[in-house]
Amino acid sequence: STSKCPIAVAHNGNLTNAQGLKLLLQNRGAIFHSTTDTEVILHLIAHQPHKQPLDALLDSLVRLRGAYSLAMILGNRLVAARDPWGFRPLVLGRRENIHYISSETCALNLVGASVVREIEPGEVIIIGDDGVHSIRLPVEPKRRFGCAFEFVYFARPDSVISGRSVYAVRKELGRKLAKRAPCREASLVTGMPDSGTIASLGYAEESGVPYEQSVVRNRYVGRTFIEPTSRVRHLGVRIKLNPITEVLQGKNVVVVDDSIVRGTTCERMISMIKSCGANQVHVRISSPPVRFPCYYGIDTPTRVELAAARMNLQQLEQEVGADSLAYITEEDLLEAIGLPAQSVCTACFSGDYMEGGEEYEPQL
Ligand code: SF4
Repeated sequence: STSKCPIAVAHNGNLTNAQGLKLLLQNRGAIFHSTTDTEVILHLIAHQPHKQPLDALLDSLVRLRGAYSLAMILGNRLVAARDPWGFRPLVLGRRENIHYISSETCALNLVGASVVREIEPGEVIIIGDDGVHSIRLPVEPKRRFGCAFEFVYFARPDSVISGRSVYAVRKELGRKLAKRAPCREASLVTGMPDSGTIASLGYAEESGVPYEQSVVRNRYVGRTFIEPTSRVRHLGVRIKLNPITEVLQGKNVVVVDDSIVRGTTCERMISMIKSCGANQVHVRISSPPVRFPCYYGIDTPTRVELAAARMNLQQLEQEVGADSLAYITEEDLLEAIGLPAQSVCTACFSGDYMEGGEEYEPQL
């Protein structure tokens, strides 16, 4: 809490100028208790004791670069703020006289609230006893950067982002993949659970090859690529996925997955499917190759660890042991998302980061 009121904050995203701001604040005597960049926001507020907390927050937000979708309690007010680039989604919901702030619309369904609207990039919403107020941050970005990967992998399929159903986009990605990379030998299409499943349904629908669920995911194990060590990651894949021999034996299998990050999961999955007696395994990826790290809140590895940054397609195909490997293009991805290219971030595929990239440091 500050001298004026208690504060609680939930932050989705990563600030690209957090390090610079942290150094500056430390030079002014701030003592940080964590490595999270969310703490930078709190120190920025605390270092403006002469202002009301809301004004201090607004002045702090103007100094931030990168991704932040925030839900905050500021005294007796609920505040939501979304960065001017619009990296991460943020929605306002309502049930009777209760307001909700959520990253995704699916969370509102859970509590029986309806979606009021998306919080706009660069918008701050203040909810208090006197109603709901909206403020615009005085930051004008050259373009928007809504995360394409939310549609590919991160968001839940039962969510709607920028008016687009995540489920519908994933299925369309699968259809586009089937057109771009058909597989004549295929006897069945399957999806890597869970995020490849919907795209694999689209692939099966478009190609006319039957869909089978052939790999079962253990729902109690987390996402493997953000596990800390390689030993834990390998173990994670084994615990996470179990193929069904009866479905796979003697078959030429098209496996659709959402992405290849380090390549560990893909390699393990192919060897598991082959050990169940599958003749051929053809891998189809419903995103372009991930060649660049994300600086906006997704904990992807460094460039040297990214499989598609280290190897070309043929090398990667060999490395993971696939009979063939193909991706969709960035153009396909943008078409499936259906939003203007200038409003979508594809930096982890293209390296096209926001202006100034991760080096950007504002003047204070
Ligand atoms: S770099 Fe990739 S994961 Fe990160 S915000 Fe952009 S599209 Fe999303």
